Amino acid sequence: MIIDLRSDTVTKPTAGMLQAMLQAKTGDDVYKEDPTVNELEARFANLFGMDAALFFPSGSMANQAAIKLHTQPGEQLICDKWAHVFNYEGGGASFNSGVSCKLVDGNRGMITAEQVKENINEPDFYHSPLTSLVCIENTTNKGGGACYDHSELKKIRSVCDSHKLGLHLDGARLMNAIVAKSEDPKQYGVLFDTISVCLSKGLGTPLGTVLIGRKELMQKAIRIRKILGGGMRQIGYMAACGLYALDNHIDRLAEDHKRASEIAEMLQKVSYVEKVEPTETNIVIFYLADGLSENTFINDLRDQNVIISNMGNGKLRIVTHLDYTDVMHKTFLKILQNYQ
Ligand SMILES: *Cc1c(COP(=O)(O)O)cnc(C)c1O
Repeated sequence: MIIDLRSDTVTKPTAGMLQAMLQAKTGDDVYKEDPTVNELEARFANLFGMDAALFFPSGSMANQAAIKLHTQPGEQLICDKWAHVFNYEGGGASFNSGVSCKLVDGNRGMITAEQVKENINEPDFYHSPLTSLVCIENTTNKGGGACYDHSELKKIRSVCDSHKLGLHLDGARLMNAIVAKSEDPKQYGVLFDTISVCLSKGLGTPLGTVLIGRKELMQKAIRIRKILGGGMRQIGYMAACGLYALDNHIDRLAEDHKRASEIAEMLQKVSYVEKVEPTETNIVIFYLADGLSENTFINDLRDQNVIISNMGNGKLRIVTHLDYTDVMHKTFLKILQNYQ
């Protein structure tokens, strides 16, 4: 038994999900003739109370398309210094859209309306890049699955309104935030211009992200997806997994959150851990005490068939997910307790 806690992307489709794939009706989605993709897109648009949605092969591509939709070359977007759009999309913001990123020193990956305001370049000062977009991440990845307070998001929206900025939500793990805080997806739909939601993280599908947004933007999104090479054909097989996940894998995210908080509790008790970040969803970030190196710890866990991630700068990450079972959880807690 391998206990793989590197990421919630390591899951395999369940029997039910495979069955949904086998039964999927498909067509050529580049002609928009795949009924299952069309259904998935409509379901997501309705869920968030937004006009339209578009199925992408990856979260990075959906975010990159969103950045392109909101900006012109030479402009600037504002995001947290740990943002996925800046750190983990291969430099795509500059490569695909020719924009720079103004990095904000946020709290666990979250930025405030006040910080957004401070980082907007004066539009008449033509020496600086024109600020045109704000990118928010919820939950935050590098910030340890932290969730925004809705009141702060509302304030950010109002800053964007008064400065005519686009507002994109990288919601790779948005459903985790919605479950953890008992929110309504429509609360997000009214605030953001575009939202990306990954199906391949906590929701457990093999691939796919849905970009949701207002009609004017989404009509352009399909062309950008084509340019980026993201037009797919009989991809209804994968959309069927997404529909299955919508029906079966949302409420259960609470189990991932519970296990993550139990892991965090255990890590707080053991002497070889210096600090554990607050654990709100399915990500646990922690730091080892002096004298124990990250590599030693990771290798020792590997010897016991447990795999976790090294995020650099002393940061270790554990992510719970659909394939992390109760038996694995009990075993892992014992391993942590007995480690010395
Ligand atoms: C995983 C993730 C993405 C998308 O990554 P892909 O590997 O391209 O699917 C985007 N944003 C965040 C915060 C993520 O964690």
